[in-house]
Amino acid sequence: MSVSKLLGAACAVTLVAAPAFAQGYPERQVTMVVPFTAGGPTDTVARLVAERMSADLGKQVIVENVGGAGGTLGAGQVAKADPDGYTVLLHHIGMATSDTLYRNLAYDTENAFDYVGLVTDVPMVIVARKDFEPADFPAFVDYVKGHAEDLTLANAGIGAASHLCGMLLMQALDVPLVTVPYKGTGPAMTDLLGGQVDFMCDQTTNTTQQIKGGTIKAYAATTPERLAVFPDLPTTAEGGLPEVQVSIWHGIYTPKGTPAEVNQRLSASLQKALADEGVIKAMADLGTAPVSAEEATPEALKAKLESEIARWKPVIEAAGVYAD
Ligand code: ASP
Repeated sequence: MSVSKLLGAACAVTLVAAPAFAQGYPERQVTMVVPFTAGGPTDTVARLVAERMSADLGKQVIVENVGGAGGTLGAGQVAKADPDGYTVLLHHIGMATSDTLYRNLAYDTENAFDYVGLVTDVPMVIVARKDFEPADFPAFVDYVKGHAEDLTLANAGIGAASHLCGMLLMQALDVPLVTVPYKGTGPAMTDLLGGQVDFMCDQTTNTTQQIKGGTIKAYAATTPERLAVFPDLPTTAEGGLPEVQVSIWHGIYTPKGTPAEVNQRLSASLQKALADEGVIKAMADLGTAPVSAEEATPEALKAKLESEIARWKPVIEAAGVYAD
């Protein structure tokens, strides 16, 4: 057989095989890797959508928490997984910032993954242990500047959203702070509640109920506008720190080489999950909302990741923070 006939035969097999594979998909449970600990904000978002996606896909989407190294361990695990649609990654803005923060990342962020879609954009709030001295955000700014060497700032490791926000805060206040890294802000919250650390930035998906319950103190929202759940809470910009603005977008990825039909099937399932009344209500209670169906697509997530890598690169380079 000539080379061109051989190639033609191979293509014919591929063309027939891919849709057949996708039609039967999924035939077994799908693992959704969350690169932070259970009980934290990323985990909360993942479990909300995984439950609804399971119902739509007819097979369980189980969440596996692979915390550590600011989310890069979990992302690295998915980058190496079989591209068969049975391992997906739910990650946040850290997918973009880690690309610059880590000099020796174990995966090539823009070439190791395929895309399913964006999920939600979650605001962050600067929160502290409930007996933290400052009464409001202006007092917080003065206090942190004056006591920097005595204070501890919790985060979920270099590459985490809490790390990015803390880095922006240190830059804006022009003080170094002692940071305490965790494998997720779930355990960081436990220590904040216990008074073992002083403050942190964290998503409203982890902080809203605690702020409402009075078990932690909230100082400012890191969003351009005030939050509907906390209309009395000032923004960082109102407090004179417009540089400390960050909102945490989340996306679902698959390992590079996953059949396009599978990514589309997952995207359709994600869109259904995000349109679910229960998900919308649960997210509203946590201070956020699902993205639109147009954003819950492979194209939208790819564009977002690329633009966010470009957006944060100069900021991180100016801060001069790197990890190996
Ligand atoms: N909120 C964490 C972060 O700082 C991650 C988590 O535990 O979900 O990125």
